[in-house]
Amino acid sequence: MKKLCAISLLLVCLLCGCAGSAPVERDIFAMDTLMLIRVWGCEDDASAAVSEINRLDALLSVTNENSEIFALNRDGEAELSADTYDLLVKAIAVSRRTDGAFDPTVYPLVVAWGFTKDEQHVPTQEALDAARSLVGYERLESDLDVTYFSIDGKLDFGGIAKGYAAQKAIDLLQSRGVETAFLSLGGNVQTLGSKPDGEKWIVGIADPNTPSQAIACLRFTGSLALVTSGGYQRYFDENGVRYHHILDPKTGYPADSGLASVTVLAHDGALADGLSTALFVMGMEKATALWRESDDFEAVFLTEDGGIFATEGAAPLLTDCDFTVVER
Ligand code: ADP
Ligand code: MG
Repeated sequence: MKKLCAISLLLVCLLCGCAGSAPVERDIFAMDTLMLIRVWGCEDDASAAVSEINRLDALLSVTNENSEIFALNRDGEAELSADTYDLLVKAIAVSRRTDGAFDPTVYPLVVAWGFTKDEQHVPTQEALDAARSLVGYERLESDLDVTYFSIDGKLDFGGIAKGYAAQKAIDLLQSRGVETAFLSLGGNVQTLGSKPDGEKWIVGIADPNTPSQAIACLRFTGSLALVTSGGYQRYFDENGVRYHHILDPKTGYPADSGLASVTVLAHDGALADGLSTALFVMGMEKATALWRESDDFEAVFLTEDGGIFATEGAAPLLTDCDFTVVER
Protein backbone atom coordinates (compact mmCIF):
# COMPACT_ATOMS: atom_id res chain seq x y z
CA MET A 1 0.00 0.00 0.00
CA LYS A 2 2.71 2.41 1.01
CA LYS A 3 4.31 2.28 -2.40
CA LEU A 4 1.05 3.26 -4.06
CA CYS A 5 1.30 6.65 -2.48
CA ALA A 6 4.78 7.51 -3.68
CA ILE A 7 7.92 7.58 -1.67
CA SER A 8 8.29 10.91 -0.01
CA LEU A 9 6.38 13.97 0.89
CA LEU A 10 8.26 16.00 -1.66
CA LEU A 11 8.01 13.27 -4.27
CA VAL A 12 4.31 12.99 -3.73
CA CYS A 13 4.11 16.71 -4.17
CA LEU A 14 6.09 16.52 -7.38
CA LEU A 15 3.84 13.80 -8.71
CA CYS A 16 0.62 15.51 -7.91
CA GLY A 17 1.24 18.43 -10.24
CA CYS A 18 2.22 16.32 -13.20
CA ALA A 19 -1.23 15.65 -14.59
CA GLY A 20 -3.39 18.26 -16.25
CA SER A 21 -2.34 21.48 -17.98
CA ALA A 22 1.29 22.42 -17.41
CA PRO A 23 1.98 24.65 -14.41
CA VAL A 24 4.91 27.04 -14.05
CA GLU A 25 7.33 25.58 -11.53
CA ARG A 26 10.07 27.05 -9.35
CA ASP A 27 12.44 25.36 -6.91
CA ILE A 28 13.96 27.74 -4.40
CA PHE A 29 15.91 27.61 -1.17
CA ALA A 30 14.48 29.96 1.45
CA MET A 31 13.77 29.88 5.18
CA ASP A 32 16.50 27.31 5.52
CA THR A 33 14.67 24.73 3.41
CA LEU A 34 13.95 23.61 -0.14
CA MET A 35 10.68 24.86 -1.54
CA LEU A 36 8.61 23.94 -4.56
CA ILE A 37 6.25 26.46 -6.10
CA ARG A 38 3.86 25.30 -8.76
CA VAL A 39 1.48 27.82 -10.29
CA TRP A 40 -1.15 27.27 -12.94
CA GLY A 41 -0.60 30.74 -14.32
CA CYS A 42 2.11 32.73 -16.08
CA GLU A 43 5.83 33.12 -15.34
CA ASP A 44 5.21 36.45 -13.63
CA ASP A 45 2.77 34.86 -11.20
CA ALA A 46 5.35 32.27 -10.14
CA SER A 47 8.01 35.00 -9.84
CA ALA A 48 5.70 37.08 -7.67
CA ALA A 49 5.14 34.14 -5.30
CA VAL A 50 8.92 33.55 -5.08
CA SER A 51 9.56 37.25 -4.37
CA GLU A 52 6.92 37.25 -1.65
CA ILE A 53 8.50 34.28 0.11
CA ASN A 54 11.99 35.78 -0.17
CA ARG A 55 10.71 39.12 1.12
CA LEU A 56 9.21 37.48 4.20
CA ASP A 57 12.35 35.39 4.74
CA ALA A 58 14.43 38.60 4.77
CA LEU A 59 12.02 40.14 7.27
CA LEU A 60 11.52 37.21 9.64
CA SER A 61 14.78 35.25 9.66
CA VAL A 62 16.18 34.95 13.15
CA THR A 63 19.77 34.56 11.90
CA ASN A 64 19.90 37.08 9.04
CA GLU A 65 21.60 40.16 10.52
CA ASN A 66 19.54 42.42 8.29
CA SER A 67 16.15 41.06 9.33
CA GLU A 68 13.60 42.86 11.44
CA ILE A 69 13.53 40.00 13.95
CA PHE A 70 17.32 40.03 14.23
CA ALA A 71 17.24 43.77 15.00
CA LEU A 72 14.46 43.27 17.55
CA ASN A 73 16.36 40.46 19.28
CA ARG A 74 19.62 42.44 19.25
CA ASP A 75 18.23 45.79 20.40
CA GLY A 76 15.20 44.68 22.43
CA GLU A 77 13.10 47.13 20.45
CA ALA A 78 12.22 47.80 16.83
CA GLU A 79 9.77 49.37 14.45
CA LEU A 80 7.65 46.51 13.21
CA SER A 81 6.46 46.30 9.63
CA ALA A 82 2.83 45.35 9.02
CA ASP A 83 3.75 41.73 8.25
CA THR A 84 5.87 41.19 11.35
CA TYR A 85 3.17 42.72 13.50
CA ASP A 86 0.50 40.61 11.79
CA LEU A 87 2.51 37.43 12.36
CA LEU A 88 3.24 38.37 15.97
CA VAL A 89 -0.47 38.78 16.64
CA LYS A 90 -1.18 35.38 15.04
CA ALA A 91 1.65 33.77 16.99
CA ILE A 92 0.37 35.14 20.31
CA ALA A 93 -3.13 33.87 19.47
CA VAL A 94 -1.76 30.34 18.94
CA SER A 95 0.26 30.61 22.18
CA ARG A 96 -2.86 31.55 24.13
CA ARG A 97 -4.96 28.78 22.60
CA THR A 98 -2.31 26.18 23.36
CA ASP A 99 -1.44 27.40 26.84
CA GLY A 100 2.08 28.25 25.68
CA ALA A 101 2.91 24.92 24.01
CA PHE A 102 3.63 27.13 21.02
CA ASP A 103 5.68 30.06 22.19
CA PRO A 104 7.48 32.53 19.88
CA THR A 105 9.70 33.66 22.78
CA VAL A 106 11.35 30.22 22.79
CA TYR A 107 14.47 31.57 21.05
CA PRO A 108 16.82 31.63 24.11
CA LEU A 109 16.13 27.90 24.50
CA VAL A 110 16.71 27.24 20.79
CA VAL A 111 20.08 29.02 21.15
CA ALA A 112 20.94 27.14 24.36
CA TRP A 113 20.49 23.85 22.49
CA GLY A 114 22.60 25.19 19.60
CA PHE A 115 19.90 24.65 16.99
CA THR A 116 20.46 27.98 15.26
CA LYS A 117 24.10 27.43 14.41
CA ASP A 118 24.31 23.69 13.88
CA GLU A 119 26.26 23.47 17.13
CA GLN A 120 23.76 21.21 18.81
CA HIS A 121 24.55 20.04 22.32
CA VAL A 122 22.76 19.33 25.59
CA PRO A 123 22.97 22.59 27.57
CA THR A 124 24.06 22.72 31.19
CA GLN A 125 21.25 23.08 33.73
CA GLU A 126 22.55 26.59 34.41
CA ALA A 127 22.27 27.56 30.75
CA LEU A 128 18.80 26.01 30.53
CA ASP A 129 17.57 27.86 33.60
CA ALA A 130 18.96 31.16 32.29
CA ALA A 131 17.24 30.60 28.93
CA ARG A 132 13.95 29.54 30.51
CA SER A 133 13.85 32.69 32.60
CA LEU A 134 13.55 34.66 29.34
CA VAL A 135 10.80 32.49 27.81
CA GLY A 136 7.09 33.15 28.18
CA TYR A 137 4.60 34.48 25.64
CA GLU A 138 2.76 36.30 28.45
CA ARG A 139 5.47 38.95 28.31
CA LEU A 140 4.27 39.80 24.79
CA GLU A 141 0.70 40.52 25.70
CA SER A 142 1.16 44.13 26.75
CA ASP A 143 2.65 46.96 24.72
CA LEU A 144 1.55 45.54 21.39
CA ASP A 145 1.89 48.55 19.16
CA VAL A 146 1.76 48.42 15.37
CA THR A 147 4.72 50.68 14.78
CA TYR A 148 6.94 50.13 17.79
CA PHE A 149 7.62 47.10 19.88
CA SER A 150 9.97 46.33 22.73
CA ILE A 151 10.65 42.98 24.30
CA ASP A 152 12.48 41.62 27.30
CA GLY A 153 13.37 38.36 25.58
CA LYS A 154 13.90 37.11 22.05
CA LEU A 155 11.53 36.02 19.31
CA ASP A 156 11.77 33.04 16.97
CA PHE A 157 9.13 32.59 14.30
CA GLY A 158 10.70 29.31 13.10
CA GLY A 159 7.58 27.41 14.15
CA ILE A 160 5.15 29.55 12.14
CA ALA A 161 6.99 31.61 9.49
CA LYS A 162 6.84 29.06 6.67
CA GLY A 163 3.10 28.67 7.10
CA TYR A 164 2.67 32.44 7.15
CA ALA A 165 4.80 32.80 4.01
CA ALA A 166 2.81 30.08 2.24
CA GLN A 167 -0.45 31.83 3.15
CA LYS A 168 0.85 35.22 1.97
CA ALA A 169 2.09 33.74 -1.31
CA ILE A 170 -1.29 32.05 -1.88
CA ASP A 171 -3.11 35.32 -1.07
CA LEU A 172 -0.90 37.17 -3.54
CA LEU A 173 -1.48 34.61 -6.28
CA GLN A 174 -5.21 34.79 -5.68
CA SER A 175 -5.15 38.60 -5.91
CA ARG A 176 -3.40 38.19 -9.28
CA GLY A 177 -6.28 36.08 -10.54
CA VAL A 178 -4.53 32.70 -10.20
CA GLU A 179 -7.05 29.96 -9.46
CA THR A 180 -4.76 26.98 -8.92
CA ALA A 181 -1.42 26.65 -7.15
CA PHE A 182 0.51 24.16 -5.08
CA LEU A 183 3.24 25.21 -2.64
CA SER A 184 5.50 22.91 -0.68
CA LEU A 185 7.68 24.90 1.68
CA GLY A 186 9.79 22.26 3.38
CA GLY A 187 7.01 20.12 4.81
CA ASN A 188 4.42 22.88 4.71
CA VAL A 189 2.02 22.21 1.85
CA GLN A 190 -0.63 24.68 0.79
CA THR A 191 -2.98 24.38 -2.17
CA LEU A 192 -5.09 26.98 -3.95
CA GLY A 193 -8.17 25.70 -5.75
CA SER A 194 -8.44 22.34 -7.44
CA LYS A 195 -6.31 20.80 -10.13
CA PRO A 196 -7.47 21.72 -13.64
CA ASP A 197 -7.73 18.03 -14.58
CA GLY A 198 -10.17 17.42 -11.72
CA GLU A 199 -7.83 14.95 -9.99
CA LYS A 200 -7.35 15.19 -6.24
CA TRP A 201 -4.27 16.70 -4.66
CA ILE A 202 -2.23 13.94 -3.04
CA VAL A 203 0.07 14.82 -0.14
CA GLY A 204 2.13 12.22 1.68
CA ILE A 205 2.72 12.11 5.41
CA ALA A 206 6.35 11.18 6.01
CA ASP A 207 7.16 7.97 7.85
CA PRO A 208 8.97 9.24 10.99
CA ASN A 209 11.30 6.23 10.87
CA THR A 210 12.06 6.66 7.16
CA PRO A 211 11.20 10.26 6.38
CA SER A 212 11.91 9.86 2.66
CA GLN A 213 8.90 7.51 2.49
CA ALA A 214 5.21 8.25 2.92
CA ILE A 215 3.41 6.28 5.62
CA ALA A 216 -0.01 7.58 4.53
CA CYS A 217 -1.56 9.98 2.04
CA LEU A 218 -4.09 12.77 2.23
CA ARG A 219 -6.26 13.13 -0.88
CA PHE A 220 -8.51 16.12 -1.32
CA THR A 221 -9.76 18.83 -3.66
CA GLY A 222 -9.71 22.59 -3.12
CA SER A 223 -7.69 24.98 -1.00
CA LEU A 224 -6.02 23.68 2.14
CA ALA A 225 -2.90 24.12 4.26
CA LEU A 226 -1.26 20.93 5.58
CA VAL A 227 1.68 21.25 7.94
CA THR A 228 3.63 18.49 9.66
CA SER A 229 5.82 18.88 12.73
CA GLY A 230 7.92 15.94 13.78
CA GLY A 231 10.89 15.20 15.97
CA TYR A 232 12.61 13.48 13.02
CA GLN A 233 12.95 16.72 11.07
CA ARG A 234 15.97 18.14 12.92
CA TYR A 235 17.82 16.42 15.73
CA PHE A 236 21.16 15.34 17.12
CA ASP A 237 22.32 12.38 19.18
CA GLU A 238 24.42 12.73 22.33
CA ASN A 239 25.47 9.84 24.55
CA GLY A 240 22.99 7.58 22.78
CA VAL A 241 20.01 9.90 23.36
CA ARG A 242 18.18 11.68 20.55
CA TYR A 243 17.31 15.36 21.02
CA HIS A 244 15.08 17.13 18.48
CA HIS A 245 14.34 20.77 17.68
CA ILE A 246 10.77 21.16 18.94
CA LEU A 247 11.11 22.33 22.52
CA ASP A 248 8.62 22.20 25.34
CA PRO A 249 8.77 25.76 26.73
CA LYS A 250 7.67 24.45 30.14
CA THR A 251 10.59 22.04 30.59
CA GLY A 252 13.16 23.62 28.27
CA TYR A 253 13.77 20.14 26.80
CA PRO A 254 12.72 18.69 23.46
CA ALA A 255 9.03 17.81 23.65
CA ASP A 256 8.52 14.25 24.84
CA SER A 257 4.80 13.74 24.39
CA GLY A 258 4.69 10.29 22.82
CA LEU A 259 4.05 11.72 19.36
CA ALA A 260 6.31 11.12 16.37
CA SER A 261 4.57 13.73 14.23
CA VAL A 262 1.44 15.82 13.91
CA THR A 263 -0.05 16.98 10.62
CA VAL A 264 -2.50 19.86 10.92
CA LEU A 265 -5.04 20.69 8.22
CA ALA A 266 -6.49 24.19 8.24
CA HIS A 267 -7.55 26.93 5.90
CA ASP A 268 -4.90 29.34 7.17
CA GLY A 269 -1.23 28.45 6.62
CA ALA A 270 0.12 30.26 9.68
CA LEU A 271 -2.50 28.69 11.94
CA ALA A 272 -1.71 25.21 10.58
CA ASP A 273 2.02 25.77 11.14
CA GLY A 274 1.75 27.20 14.65
CA LEU A 275 -0.70 24.51 15.69
CA SER A 276 1.39 21.65 14.28
CA THR A 277 4.28 22.70 16.50
CA ALA A 278 1.97 23.20 19.49
CA LEU A 279 0.07 19.90 19.17
CA PHE A 280 3.36 18.03 18.88
CA VAL A 281 4.40 19.54 22.22
CA MET A 282 1.00 18.94 23.83
CA GLY A 283 0.65 15.24 23.01
CA MET A 284 -2.47 13.31 21.95
CA GLU A 285 -4.64 13.89 24.98
CA LYS A 286 -4.29 17.66 25.26
CA ALA A 287 -4.18 18.08 21.47
CA THR A 288 -7.42 16.18 20.90
CA ALA A 289 -9.05 18.11 23.77
CA LEU A 290 -8.12 21.34 21.98
CA TRP A 291 -9.48 19.94 18.70
CA ARG A 292 -12.79 19.09 20.37
CA GLU A 293 -13.27 22.68 21.46
CA SER A 294 -12.17 24.11 18.09
CA ASP A 295 -13.71 24.24 14.64
CA ASP A 296 -10.85 25.57 12.53
CA PHE A 297 -8.46 22.63 12.17
CA GLU A 298 -8.20 18.87 11.76
CA ALA A 299 -5.18 16.69 12.50
CA VAL A 300 -3.43 13.40 11.90
CA PHE A 301 -1.30 12.11 14.78
CA LEU A 302 1.47 9.53 14.45
CA THR A 303 2.44 8.11 17.82
CA GLU A 304 5.90 6.91 18.75
CA ASP A 305 4.55 3.38 19.13
CA GLY A 306 3.34 3.33 15.52
CA GLY A 307 -0.32 4.35 15.88
CA ILE A 308 -2.07 6.60 13.37
CA PHE A 309 -5.01 8.70 14.59
CA ALA A 310 -7.12 11.05 12.47
CA THR A 311 -9.69 13.55 13.70
CA GLU A 312 -13.18 13.14 12.21
CA GLY A 313 -12.63 15.80 9.56
CA ALA A 314 -9.22 14.46 8.49
CA ALA A 315 -10.30 10.81 8.39
CA PRO A 316 -12.17 10.95 5.04
CA LEU A 317 -9.04 12.37 3.40
CA LEU A 318 -6.60 9.82 4.82
CA THR A 319 -5.67 6.84 2.63
CA ASP A 320 -3.07 4.10 2.24
CA CYS A 321 -2.84 3.25 5.95
CA ASP A 322 -4.77 1.73 8.85
CA PHE A 323 -5.82 4.32 11.38
CA THR A 324 -8.14 5.12 14.27
CA VAL A 325 -10.68 7.93 14.07
CA VAL A 326 -10.66 10.47 16.90
CA GLU A 327 -14.31 11.32 17.60
CA ARG A 328 -15.70 14.57 18.87
P1 ADP B 1 9.87 22.90 11.05
O1 ADP B 1 10.10 24.37 11.04
O2 ADP B 1 11.08 22.08 11.27
O3 ADP B 1 9.08 22.44 9.89
P2 ADP B 1 8.08 23.47 13.24
O4 ADP B 1 7.10 24.27 12.46
O5 ADP B 1 7.49 22.57 14.27
O6 ADP B 1 8.98 22.57 12.32
O7 ADP B 1 9.04 24.53 13.91
C1 ADP B 1 10.15 24.15 14.68
C2 ADP B 1 10.96 25.40 14.95
O8 ADP B 1 10.19 26.32 15.73
C3 ADP B 1 12.23 25.15 15.73
O9 ADP B 1 13.33 24.95 14.87
C4 ADP B 1 12.39 26.42 16.54
O10 ADP B 1 12.97 27.45 15.77
C5 ADP B 1 10.95 26.82 16.82
N1 ADP B 1 10.39 26.19 18.02
C6 ADP B 1 10.82 25.11 18.74
N2 ADP B 1 9.99 24.82 19.75
C7 ADP B 1 8.98 25.75 19.69
C8 ADP B 1 7.81 25.99 20.47
N3 ADP B 1 7.47 25.22 21.50
N4 ADP B 1 7.03 27.04 20.10
C9 ADP B 1 7.34 27.83 19.05
N5 ADP B 1 8.42 27.65 18.28
C10 ADP B 1 9.23 26.62 18.58
MG1 MG C 1 5.10 24.79 12.98
